[in-house]
Amino acid sequence: MSDLFIDGAWTAATSGRTRDCIDPADGTVIRSVDEASPADVRAAIVAARAAFDDSPWRSTTVADRSAILDRIADLLMRDIESLALIETRDTGKTLAESRIDITDVVAVFRYYADLVTTSSDRLVDVGNPAVISRVVAEPVGVCVMIAPWNYPLLQISWKIAPALAAGATMVLKPSEVTPLSTIELTRLIAEAGVPAGVVNLVLGAGSDLGAALTDDPDVDLISFTGGLATGKVIARTAAEHVTRVLVELGGKNPHVVFADACATPEAMSATVDQVLTGVFLHSGQVCSAGTRLIVEESVADDLVAAVADRAGRIPMGPGVDPASLTGPLVSAQQLAKIVDFVAVGVAEGATLVTGGHRSTEPRLAEGYFFEPTVFDHCDRSMRIVAEETFGPILTVERFTTEAHALELGNDTAYGLAAGVRTSDAARGERMARGLRHGTVWVNDFGYYTPAAEWGGFGRSGNGRELGPSGLAEYQELKHIWTNTTAPPAGWFPP
Ligand code: NAD
Repeated sequence: MSDLFIDGAWTAATSGRTRDCIDPADGTVIRSVDEASPADVRAAIVAARAAFDDSPWRSTTVADRSAILDRIADLLMRDIESLALIETRDTGKTLAESRIDITDVVAVFRYYADLVTTSSDRLVDVGNPAVISRVVAEPVGVCVMIAPWNYPLLQISWKIAPALAAGATMVLKPSEVTPLSTIELTRLIAEAGVPAGVVNLVLGAGSDLGAALTDDPDVDLISFTGGLATGKVIARTAAEHVTRVLVELGGKNPHVVFADACATPEAMSATVDQVLTGVFLHSGQVCSAGTRLIVEESVADDLVAAVADRAGRIPMGPGVDPASLTGPLVSAQQLAKIVDFVAVGVAEGATLVTGGHRSTEPRLAEGYFFEPTVFDHCDRSMRIVAEETFGPILTVERFTTEAHALELGNDTAYGLAAGVRTSDAARGERMARGLRHGTVWVNDFGYYTPAAEWGGFGRSGNGRELGPSGLAEYQELKHIWTNTTAPPAGWFPP
């Protein structure tokens, strides 16, 4: 097997080790993939360094790079069905979700294909007509891209597309839990004509490869999406070489519902629908999942009852079955973590309203399915409210005033995303401005678009992906001062 891609060639791991990729819907092995050694990682970094320093890649025209990004998008669309199936079997998400992920990935490649053709050079007036002063954007250099398992193709593409657009070179390291779609994407990138060494792929666990990836002076930037604990380790390691770091971390995202959003049966139904979609899509394994329902006291009992009722009826099953609206957790490890969190919630005194167990359906017995779970009467001292569970667990807190709602919504170490539901437009705007989160949805939940920045306040990370800032992360700015008259400096006498 040769699953690593180094300097333009599919390469077997020097470790001789492989790792099984498990279908979380039934626990079977999909296939085994190579596990890189630290020496393989070093070879990939050396290839990316050489491709940056010695090959013409970084000085290709923006038109050429734009065309390559468009070609990658075309190839993704060509293979959308096979890619969606791979993503579904590896992650457990439904086929419908995998298709949406891939069309979103296509949109990101197209967005950066377009954006990069708009020159970002800036002329600066220094008050001397003989001087041409300009700020130009150059590619940052060699990037290491480390991705999580919940949106494998999507998260790594948010890094690859702008980095290619900028003219950088890179080493990709998908999650060891879900590497399969990134292997296929790397094939498409090569097919699209990206030169050897520009994009390299290594596979394996962060615990084995982390140091080789991040503690290397040949790396100019590390772009990481994953958990807070890992992000801290990476940022500390990167500091040793003053390597630029972009960390996109977790979230504990509030969904604030005012009573006026439940005033009629239709409004209540729509609110329930948004709350469910916000938290239970992909079984809650979404960094921006609305896991904290913060609801106005006067409607709390009714809303919680309606949410619990519908949560208990969400059709769960293998992602390949079109009848499934949500799938399993990604791994046995993730399942064990969620089982623990439910025990913690019960021990902390929260009221378990629905769910709380592994699915009891016999047909799902071999998979890692967990029931959508709702805890009422929660408060911020509880771990289930403060910590990211990354599973299908909704906690409910209650408020009495708008100020109280805002205080609760901001009472988190994280700051990735938040939702507000109200029929009062002015209040929606006040809340949106008051919430200290990177994205705020008013009367909607979960949407993003390639042209708008994505990222976190607080411990949800630093830097931004998507939008113009997502490209700027992969660029260095250089100020070029040209004096067209070449005068003497005049400080020291001749
Ligand atoms: P994780 O931190 O365990 O792993 C993420 C990646 O880091 C994996 O590829 C892993 O192999 C690698 N890794 C682990 N230890 C490493 C080390 N010491 N050095 C270098 N790399 C290392 O996270 P996960 O469980 O894969 O993903 C879930 C987390 O990702 C959640 O916290 C979720 O909120 C977060 N996430 C955030 C966003 C966002 O946009 N902010 C998006 C998706 C997921």
